[in-house]
Amino acid sequence: MEHNCCDYLLHQIVFDIFDVKPCCEDAKNKESINLIEGFNGTELNIQEYIEKRNELISKFQKGETPTACYNCPQIKKKNWNKEDIYFDRIIVANIAKCSCDCIYCVYTHNNPENKRIFNTRIPYDIKSILTDLKNKNHIKENFMLIVGGGECTEFDDGLLEWLIYFTISLNGRIQILSSGINYSKAIEKILQTGKVELIISPDAGTNSTYKKIKRINKFKNVWKNLEKYVKVSQYNTNSHVEVKYIIIPEINDSINEFDSFLRMCKKINCKNIHLDIEHFWFAENKEKKFPQNIKNILEYIKDREKEFNISFSSETEYWFKTR
Ligand code: SF4
Ligand code: SF4
Repeated sequence: MEHNCCDYLLHQIVFDIFDVKPCCEDAKNKESINLIEGFNGTELNIQEYIEKRNELISKFQKGETPTACYNCPQIKKKNWNKEDIYFDRIIVANIAKCSCDCIYCVYTHNNPENKRIFNTRIPYDIKSILTDLKNKNHIKENFMLIVGGGECTEFDDGLLEWLIYFTISLNGRIQILSSGINYSKAIEKILQTGKVELIISPDAGTNSTYKKIKRINKFKNVWKNLEKYVKVSQYNTNSHVEVKYIIIPEINDSINEFDSFLRMCKKINCKNIHLDIEHFWFAENKEKKFPQNIKNILEYIKDREKEFNISFSSETEYWFKTR
């Protein structure tokens, strides 16, 4: 029977710094949906995870919405098969170290002091956990491994290379989220040979706006690195480099800024653009009136559809659907 639920609850698993959970929507809903709390990297009790996941699915089956999922744009109504236990999206997000300092970063949003703590924290060993999931046949073929933040080019001991190798050896695809401030030979190599999506989010077309958002002075480096990655990716049809623009009201929501961003994309020959809305702002304002500046950007981009391949985050789609 059809009922509301979401793909992430069934088939995605996120390894966060302290928890294991099905999604990273916490920031948007202001409530965590951690299925295993206080995880420290010891053996993953997958049975416990599935049982807690099933409790949430049962709520959906009864026509209720778990409070952490309230108004989540990922919810869909269809026939769901909770007996088929596998993960087709795995997110590695247990290492928060990053030299960037974005104003919307989940690690520091509530407390800027966390930056120092997270940058020096020793993470748990993700390799043994992924190997164990593989050995227990919980990873679906053609799965997607998402290497999230911190910043993967700052991982220790060849971990990024290991994650790439692990994914390729299982015939999976890899999505790499990077600040773009460092150029990585490992990313260059996978862009040349593998199935990869690289996503970098400069969020700005001018140096001054970049500095306001990222609180570092690396605007030129990021666009230069992006240009190199785009060039390399052109020789492999399985490679995809995407430049992201997270709209942050009152900071980068003017048409002038967005137009500068599009000009930078054109200059480096990147056609793939992803539009998003800053998640903390979205959580606070999703019930309110559609902001005119966001609307202006969404309308402006429509006229450029021949020049760029444009995709939208679920938050952006949410505005479209509900207004
Ligand atoms: S918060 Fe959204 S994405 Fe996460 S489990 Fe609930 S419905 Fe799914
Ligand atoms: S690049 Fe990612 S991890 Fe680094 S500060 Fe920005 S949001 Fe946080």
